[in-house]
Formats: sequence, structure tokens, C-alpha cells
Amino acid sequence: KETVERLEALGFPFRLPLEVTHYIGGEFVRGENFFPVVYPATGEVIGTAPEGREKEVEQAVAAAKEAFKKWSKMPPSQRRPYLRRFAEKIREYKPVFEVLETLDVGRPIHENRLGYVDRMANNIEFFADFAVTHGSEAYPMENGYINYVLRFPVGVAALITPWNMPSMLATWKIGPTLAFGNTAVLKPAEFTPLGAWLLAKCAHEAGLPPGVFNVVHGFGPDSAGELLTKHPDVRLISFTGETTTGKIIMKNASDTLKRLSMELGGKAPNLIFESADLDRAVEVTMRASFFNQGEVCLAGSRLLVQRSVYEPFLERLVKAARSLKVGDPLDPETRMGALIAEEHLNKVMSYVEIARETATILTGGRRPELPHPFDKGYFLEPTVVVDVKPSDKVCQEEIFGPMVVVMPFDTEEEAIELANNTPYGLNAIVQTRDVGQAVRVSEALEVGTVWVNDWFVRDLRVPFGGAKQSGIGREGGHYGYEFYYETKNVCIAN
Ligand code: NAD
Repeated sequence: KETVERLEALGFPFRLPLEVTHYIGGEFVRGENFFPVVYPATGEVIGTAPEGREKEVEQAVAAAKEAFKKWSKMPPSQRRPYLRRFAEKIREYKPVFEVLETLDVGRPIHENRLGYVDRMANNIEFFADFAVTHGSEAYPMENGYINYVLRFPVGVAALITPWNMPSMLATWKIGPTLAFGNTAVLKPAEFTPLGAWLLAKCAHEAGLPPGVFNVVHGFGPDSAGELLTKHPDVRLISFTGETTTGKIIMKNASDTLKRLSMELGGKAPNLIFESADLDRAVEVTMRASFFNQGEVCLAGSRLLVQRSVYEPFLERLVKAARSLKVGDPLDPETRMGALIAEEHLNKVMSYVEIARETATILTGGRRPELPHPFDKGYFLEPTVVVDVKPSDKVCQEEIFGPMVVVMPFDTEEEAIELANNTPYGLNAIVQTRDVGQAVRVSEALEVGTVWVNDWFVRDLRVPFGGAKQSGIGREGGHYGYEFYYETKNVCIAN
């Protein structure tokens, strides 16, 4: 009841309970085998979504395959107006997306208002333009022969996304998939079906040809996710999610030899050197640690702090963590919301318990006491853990919650060794005012992205992806060509 009233006050256009549908071949399909949609901040069931199985996956792939015939043959300049209208629709629904993402994820609405929806629209618009403006390469040979490179669309893409930034990650895949002439079946995470449902509405209202973009809801194993990864007519899979899931998908996709792009888990080091501007370092660290409740693949979850500034840095960090307002995510003053689900909260709490036994919890580690109806939500205080060993479980495994571990170091070499000491290699943060040090350390880190003195700044032209167990392949700008396009070389004799 409280949530209904809150939503009405926010001008939310849909009534609860929300009835999420599939979107197949340009139609909203009610589906069957409904599962509940839960608002993480209160544990309330706020709607239902249908689970797609063989029938829905067959229909969606067939619709995408049919649509591919025309869509793939259009020049990019003809696809661009459709995609621009799609992006425009997303902008039109901005206030609705901001609320929906909070209902889906439990993230504070404040964070959705920091440009989240614009980034969604940009993800589509950027690639629509890029496909039009970007050229190809030619390689003249010494004997006068000429090689030139042609690129063409691959086919039906399965886009399988996680629950932590559902709408943004969906558009990050939809943009290049459609702009480069492929057609798509999006399978959003089961915890967060709402954003994908509204994206389908946007695509529909933008007049995208039926079948170019489809959404099938459902689960992973033995459900829509797995069925898509095994379907012979799906030619490519862009997956973002856990490393363990990525491995299963690779196995399942091997019989039909699909091309794969894998954006997987992370355990990013956040290196704070003594020359860093400490105020800024604390501000960056607070974001990198607790944005989206720390449920971010790129979260700087391992703080490595030079010993000379260890104490003053920690003092400021703990103070800032204690002052973070945790609670009602629809309150614009709230700075940390709820974790995605009870089972995920339990998983994160199991790491807190390990830390309680083997390390020291400087702050946090408890579920905050919140008034009704948030007493039923999946909240955890921002948690800072010290006295850990680099080999500890809490320093090696992805926790995916508002919990960071802190380790001191003495030298640059030691910092680099500690930073590289996990199976993951998605990204790193380097905080220093010494330019030479920034250059040296960035080069030595085994990761796909380094941010120096900031975090999560995205330029859609640059490569994005993980080293080591954090992924395979790069997306972004022309780096996505290798995956989203088929490449052909033509060699002409003189
Ligand atoms: P997950 O791997 O559990 O699920 C991701 C998606 O895969 C969901 O849609 C799920 O239904 C589907 N899925 C699960 N099993 C499947 C199977 N056998 N076949 C096909 N599909 C299957 O991940 P999650 O818990 O939703 O998300 C959190 C994870 O995502 C974290 O590890 C995080 O680091 C990672 N992540 C990575 C990036 C990146 O860019 N590298 C970005 C965001 C999140």
C-alpha cells in the first residue's frame, strides 16, 4: 500500500501489480508460468513476469531471423532513424525508467538521476551514428594488389544481461547489435524484468520493424537463457554476468559454434598512493565501493593504501561510510538502497561472517534498523574490513555487495603485486598525483580498464572488457566490430 502511494505521488503511470510481458515479433505476449517481481527495498511482490520456455524462445528467434532478412540489408543510414527514435523514446520515459530501475534493483533514485537514462539513450544513438560514419581499412601490397575489408551483420543475437544495471547493460548491447545490422532477443535477469519490458515498449512506440528487437523473460538453466544459448539459429551471444555462468554458456554454445562476447565478474583493486589528494580519494572510493550498493562488476572492492596515508585515509573513509544515508530508495536523499534479493543478501552476509571471524570489521557488517516497510528489505550497512591477508576468501572472491577490504602496502612494486593477485582482471583504480607513477602502474596492471583519479567514466569509443577471468573480447567503438560484424577481406590483383 505504501509503495502504491509513493508511486502515485511520483506520477508513475503504471498500476501495481505490474504485469510484465514478453515482446516477440512486434507483439506483447502475455506468456505463462508467471514468477513474482519483488521490490528489494520492502520485499513486496509488485508484479509478475512470464517465464519463456521452448515456445517463446522458438517464436522470438524465428521472428528475429525473419526480420534479419530486411534489417541486415538496410544501409546503416536507413537503420539510424529507427534507432534514434528508439533513443528518443527512452528519453521521453526518463522519469519512468528512473522509478522502474529503483523498483527493479533497489538502487537509490538519486543514482538513477545522475544521467543513467541519458546513458541508456546514448548507448543506442552512439552506435547508430557510428555505423554510418565509420569506415573500413585497405592494405595495398608491394606488388600492387589491394586488400580491403568488408563487414556485414552476423545474424540473430542473444543478449543475456545481469540484474545489477539492467537497463543500461541492455542498451549497451542493443545499440551495436541493431546498428550493425543484427537482430536481437534480449533475456533480462529474472530479478529485474521491468526495465526490459519498458525498453520493449520504447522500441514498439519508436516503430522498430517487428522482430528486430525481442524480449523473452525467464531464468538461466533449463529456461529461456539456456535455450537461447543452444538454439541453432542464434549466431552470437553477448553475455554479461558471473564468470561461472560464462563458463557454462561457453560449453552450451559450443555445439552450435556461436561467437561469444563475455563481460564477467570483477574484484577491482583501488590503489591509493601517498601522493593522492586524500579528499578526492575518499570521494572516489565512496562511489567505487558503495554505488549501487556495491553491486557493480567494476566496484573497487579491494582498497590498497600506502602505509604512510593508511590511518588518515581510513579515518576519513569510515566517517564517510557511517554518514551514508541507507534506506528508502525512492527518497531522493537516500544514498544507499537495498541488495537485489534475500538470497543475495545471505550470500553477502556469509562474507561478513567470514570477516567477523578472520578479520576486523571497522564499520558496518549489520543490517540497518529501518522503519516499516523497509524492515523487510534486503539492506546492509556500508562495510569496511581490515586486517585481512591477500589470500583470504574475502580478498579473492567477488562479493558483489557494500563491503570492501583494505590492505596496506609500502612500495609501488608491492602494490602492483597485490593488485594483480586475483583471478579477475576487469578494471582498476589508481589514485596518485604523480604522473609517472600513474603511467607505470597503469601499464603493470593486468586489467581491461584503468581509471586514474576517478571511477566509472565511460566513453563509448574505447574498448571495454575484462582480462583474465573477467571476460573474453572487447566491446565499444570499433572494438565491437570483431564480435557484432562478420569480416571479409577482398584481395584484388592488379
Ligand atoms: P548471472 O551470471 O547469475 O546471470 C546473468 C544472466 O545470465 C541472467 O540473465 C541469468 O538468467 C542468465 N543465466 C544464468 N545461467 C544461465 C545459463 N546457464 N544459460 C544462459 N543464461 C543464464 O549474473 P548476475 O548475478 O545476474 O549478475 C552479477 C554478475 O554480473 C557479477 O558477477 C558481475 O560482476 C557481473 N557483471 C559484469 C559486468 C561486466 O561488464 N563485466 C557488468 C555487470 C555485471
